[in-house]
Amino acid sequence: AEYEAKRTAYLKEKKELDQYIGKPTVTKDGVTIELVANIGKPEDVDKVLQYDAEGIGLFRTEFLFMDRNSMPTEDEQFEAYRTAAQTMAGKPLIIRTLDVGGDKKLPTLELPHEDNPFLGFRAIRMTLSHPEIFRPQLRAILRAAAYGDVRVMFPMIGSMDQLREAKALLREQEQTLQAEGVPTGSVKVGMMVEIPAAAVLAEEFAKEVDFFSIGTNDLTQYTLAVERGNAAVAHLYAPEHPAVLRLIAMTAQAAAERHIPCGMCGEAAGDPKLAPAFVGMGVNELSMSPRRVPAVRKLLSGLTMDECRQAAEKLLHP
Ligand code: PEP
Ligand code: MG
Repeated sequence: AEYEAKRTAYLKEKKELDQYIGKPTVTKDGVTIELVANIGKPEDVDKVLQYDAEGIGLFRTEFLFMDRNSMPTEDEQFEAYRTAAQTMAGKPLIIRTLDVGGDKKLPTLELPHEDNPFLGFRAIRMTLSHPEIFRPQLRAILRAAAYGDVRVMFPMIGSMDQLREAKALLREQEQTLQAEGVPTGSVKVGMMVEIPAAAVLAEEFAKEVDFFSIGTNDLTQYTLAVERGNAAVAHLYAPEHPAVLRLIAMTAQAAAERHIPCGMCGEAAGDPKLAPAFVGMGVNELSMSPRRVPAVRKLLSGLTMDECRQAAEKLLHP
């Protein structure tokens, strides 16, 4: 009887949420918010379409590099990115460049032991030091951009030099491909805001990129000095901490001032307790696990921007 009741409740909720499939995400007072999805492999695109996300806000490319004994070639990567771009049929696809190190090891790249891997040789720090890994990935992304609205995003940016170096490498590869006569598409360039330094300097960074995407998973860990995934300090891990939220609000405000979109792709983006507040702070694209999309769409459809701003104020200044 208990499971029968659960089933009935589930079906009722599903029926209600199904009404939000195929609709744009618009607040009660007519402001459009983009609800997009996070994926980890090209097959996940099916779920993105099933739950009607409006694009892909984060394609984690680590999967292509892990669980195998050799580095993926440029062509292999190109195939994976192109497949995703074509399946999305013109909807935006944000591909994040490789983010390994920290808790993600590469079987094909021996890296020295680190006492604090989350503060160490990870993401953009690693790829900038390994152009033989970075260049083929950038080339594959540029080539896939000929098949859809493909955008690129750099993880773990903490300084202007890193961002400029990554952008220069991208431009260099774009010119090389064009000189080789290989078709490319134009890609918008964004960065993850997931290190507090990037949020604090968001005003400066906003002049250098086409979009931001806030990574609340890491931003929380680094702002609160609480390792993500460490059970002993899990009770201290809180994206709703006002310090984290104020960095998010600062980032969104800097983006608004420079008229660039501000997205969010950490877990918190799909949290119904927080999503309205993020919208109230000026985050205009939320990227989450595909199955969360209909419920968040329903939630935001029932609120005005004023209500979202009040929700933000309450959490920013509890
Ligand atoms: C994040 O840090 O919030 C994020 C989305 O990136 P990842 O979880 O892959 O580190
Ligand atoms: Mg991250």
